[in-house]
Amino acid sequence: MVAKYPAAFGIHSYVPYVLLGVGLLLILISILFRKKDNDDELKWKFKLPQFKTWKKRRTIAQFIVLGLVALHIILYSAGLITMKSICPGTLASVAIKGAFGVETIFWIFILVGTLFSGRFLCGWLCVFAPMQETADNLLRTTGNWSSEKKSLHPGFIYFFTFLFWGSIIFNIVMNIHFLTFSITDNGGDGNIKNIWGFITGIITLIPLLMLLAYLWGSRFFCRNVCPIGGLLRIYSKFGFLKVKIDQEKCTGCSSCTGQCQMNVNIDRYVKEGSASIKDGDCILCGDCIDSCPKKALKFGVIAG
Ligand code: SF4
Ligand code: SF4
Repeated sequence: MVAKYPAAFGIHSYVPYVLLGVGLLLILISILFRKKDNDDELKWKFKLPQFKTWKKRRTIAQFIVLGLVALHIILYSAGLITMKSICPGTLASVAIKGAFGVETIFWIFILVGTLFSGRFLCGWLCVFAPMQETADNLLRTTGNWSSEKKSLHPGFIYFFTFLFWGSIIFNIVMNIHFLTFSITDNGGDGNIKNIWGFITGIITLIPLLMLLAYLWGSRFFCRNVCPIGGLLRIYSKFGFLKVKIDQEKCTGCSSCTGQCQMNVNIDRYVKEGSASIKDGDCILCGDCIDSCPKKALKFGVIAG
């Protein structure tokens, strides 16, 4: 006879609910006790949201991606879909076994797409971007943000890039006679198995990212560690989509360089008289365009 034990329900099971509850409570308090300076503010005004800056548009895109990832996890853990994660971790974990699937198609698409659209993925679609930018925004809100960005050793990112892609290529070569492909099941076990893991992961990451951004500046991960970014930065500068510089309007105020999350020296391109920013670190976020008081910068398609 099999002994029956009560279901395990440790303190850790409550943590996500408590954190979520505290967050919702804080939002409710801030709405109820918001500052009311005059009567006009008390009236309910309906306004369609305006997405006039690239930062706002980018934030919407990033949170849509986060929402899609969350939806995918919910559907997967409910057994409604079998397609596993397409994140770089899954790509590496299945590719080193010689198995390929939908994640391989996705990454081939991104790697080739970078030749046309530069590092659009890094600025707009990477699931890690909203966490890093939220950490950055919190530092700005608390007055702890600095435009200074320190890099670790310049070769650091290439070390991770070589390790990541090198191990994939090495294992493909070693498994060359046993490679498999399946759209629905590539043998990966999925990185995140439940939605609470995903939510608590985000909640835990943000303070860590704040610390990294405080010490080394915005987008620490993208600039120093990410093996995807490390590969894309090698050839993204040849992409057609770029930030164009109107040299006639530019006054050389350097406001754009100060706002760049990726520490791109836009001043250099301005001084060189360049028609566009051709930099492997540019993730096409658009912050420099938002910050330019002379509207001398804009997105455009430009060859070379
Ligand atoms: S150069 Fe402009 S678009 Fe490129 S990363 Fe810097 S701020 Fe973003
Ligand atoms: S913010 Fe605009 S005007 Fe100032 S240096 Fe940059 S491109 Fe030129």
